[in-house]
Order: sequence, then C-alpha cells, then structure tokens
Amino acid sequence: MTPTPDITAPFIGRLKTLYADMDAAYRKAADHYGFHCRGCEDNCCLTRFFHHTHLEHRYLREGFRRLPDALREEIRERADLARQQTAAAEKEGAPPRIMCPLNGEGWCRLYDYRPMICRLHGIAHEVHPPGRPAFRSPGCAVFSRRAAGRDDFRFDRTPFYRAMALLENELRQAAGITVKLKMTVADMIATFEDRPS
Ligand code: SF4
Repeated sequence: MTPTPDITAPFIGRLKTLYADMDAAYRKAADHYGFHCRGCEDNCCLTRFFHHTHLEHRYLREGFRRLPDALREEIRERADLARQQTAAAEKEGAPPRIMCPLNGEGWCRLYDYRPMICRLHGIAHEVHPPGRPAFRSPGCAVFSRRAAGRDDFRFDRTPFYRAMALLENELRQAAGITVKLKMTVADMIATFEDRPS
C-alpha cells in the first residue's frame, strides 16, 4: 500500500525557519536592552495566550508525541485542570492567571515547539497591520521596569506575523482546512488524539 503523503511536513520545515528568524530577532532586541527572562519575578506562562494557526497546532502535537507516555499523561491532566480553572475564573469574572500545562518546574517542556507568541512576548515592539494604524506595545511589566531609561530598539513583529499568515493560508489551502482556530495551549493539548479511553 502506498503511504499517504504527509501534507504538513514541508510547512513544518518552513515554520522552523520562521521560528529561527523570530528567535534571532528577539535575541538581538533582548541583548540591546540587556533583558533576559532568567530570574524573572513574573512568569509569562501564566498569561492566557490564544493561538490561531493550524500549523502551530500540528507542530506542537508533533513535539507532544515525542514525550514519554507518563509525561504526556501528566500534561494532559494538567491541561484538563487548567481548562476547568480558567472556566471557573471566567465565571467569577476574574481574569484567569493559570499556569500553562506545558510549564514544568519553571521550564517549557516543549521549548523547541512552543508557539510564536511564546517566542515574541515580553519585549517592547511595534506592529503595522495592513489597512490599520500601526501601534507600539510597551512590553510586559517586568520589561518596562527593567528597560526603563534605555534607548529604544526597533523590534517590528510585522514580518513575522505576515510570514506566519502566509504559511498558514498555504497549509489551509493544501489541506482543505476551512475552520478557524483560537486555542490556548491547554485547549490544543485537549485535542491531541491517542488519548487512552
Ligand atoms: S508553551 Fe511553553 S513557553 Fe508557551 S506558555 Fe506554555 S510553557 Fe510557556
């Protein structure tokens, strides 16, 4: 029998290149500001990030499948708990600050596979959305405090957002995907198959 070609594989290769470009640009900006996350009194893995690309969902699933069985199960349980805690916090009208289920003892268990926003978070940046005014974000609270008084460094996320959107569109067309995606990492983990019954 002829094996079914993996339609995602070439996109994953391009995603890795894009991630490497993001990481390099982020490092350059971080070096400029002398800003590094080690010893941070906050933890951005407590932030409720939404992810929007099927490509990143598939890549995270690829990383997840490589983890040992016991760790996968532990993470699944943490993801279920995080989703329940998030729902409860929302019901109370409180902003959810729930640890990402992939964070274990302060470290991302799937660091190489982490999504775009985890890679870009923290540092002051600008975005130039098509047809809308450009905007600048001051970065996270810890960054704003630590980088106070430093010269600005132009960290423009636009090329990364644009390249990600193009890649995602190509994948959707190639794979015939029509549904939109808006998920936290906990939501994504809950969709990963091979769950024991
Ligand atoms: S995927 Fe990794 S880096 Fe991103 S929030 Fe979760 S633990 Fe943190």
